[in-house]
Amino acid sequence: MKIEIIGSGGCVSLPKPLCSCKVCEEARMKGRPYSRYGPSIFVHDINLLIDTPEDICHAINASSIKKIEAVAYSHMDPDHILGFRVFEQLRLNWFDVGLNIKCDNPINVYARAEVMEDLNKIQSKYGPYLDYYEKGRNLIKRQSLDKKVFDQITMTLIPVGGASVFVFEDKKHKVIYAPCDVKPFPDNELFFGADVMIIGNTVIGETLKDGYILPEDSFMRKELFDLDQIMDLKDRYDIHHVIMTHLEEDWGKSYDDYKVLENQYVGLSFAYDSMMIDTSKL
Ligand SMILES: [Zn+2]
Ligand SMILES: [Zn+2]
Repeated sequence: MKIEIIGSGGCVSLPKPLCSCKVCEEARMKGRPYSRYGPSIFVHDINLLIDTPEDICHAINASSIKKIEAVAYSHMDPDHILGFRVFEQLRLNWFDVGLNIKCDNPINVYARAEVMEDLNKIQSKYGPYLDYYEKGRNLIKRQSLDKKVFDQITMTLIPVGGASVFVFEDKKHKVIYAPCDVKPFPDNELFFGADVMIIGNTVIGETLKDGYILPEDSFMRKELFDLDQIMDLKDRYDIHHVIMTHLEEDWGKSYDDYKVLENQYVGLSFAYDSMMIDTSKL
C-alpha cells in the first residue's frame, strides 16, 4: 500500500493566517515540510482521498496525486469536510453543462451511514450541497458503508462516537487511520498487529505555543490523547509503528522540533505534508 499524507495540520493549519509566531513565520518562509495543510490522506492504490479540509485544492496541487476516484469521510467536523467544493473543481465542466451533458465519471463518496446523514444536513436554501453535486450535476455518487472491498485492498470503517477509524488491509499489511475525535479509542480486534497507525487527536508535549503549559484541569486532556497514551495504544494492539498527524498550530512546534521529539520514542514519528508510507518497504 502507498499512502500519502496530503495534509498533516490540525483544525488550525500552518502557517495560521496573520500569526507571527516563529513556527508560522518559518512555515511561511520555507514552505513544506514546515507548512501543513488541513488533515487528509490519500491511498494511491485505490485513488481514494480521506476528508476534504478547506485547503484541499492547494494540498492536492502540492501532492503527487494523479487521479481521484473516491473520497471517504471520517466525520462531519468542519476541519475535515468544508473543502467539499473540490468536487466541482475536479469534475465540473461548464462547456458540458452548457450542452446539457452530465459528468460521466462521478467521484464515489463513502462514509458510514451516520456520518453520511450528518453530511447531508449541510445545506443552503436549495437543499443539501451533496444533493446538488449528485442529483443536480452528477459529480459524485454517495454510498453509505462500513466496509468496501477493492481489488487488492479492503477498507473497514469502525465507529467511534460520530466519527470513524479506517482500517486498510491488503494480503500482507494493515494500516489504521484515526484522524480525529477518536478518544476513547474503540475496542476492535481488527486493530491488532497493524503495521502502521496514523493518528491525530493528540496534544503534543506539555509546553505548547508561546510556553503555554496545559493546565491539569484542561478539558483538552480528556478529549485528546497524550503521547504516553498513544504508546499504550501501540502496545495494546501490538502496532509496529505510529505516525502522529493532525498537528495543531497551538502545539507550538516546528518540523525540526518534531524530529527531535520522535527520537525520544521507539516506533513513533510525526507526519509532514507529502510524507509517503509504502508498506512494501517496511
Ligand atoms: Zn503561529
Ligand atoms: Zn479534526
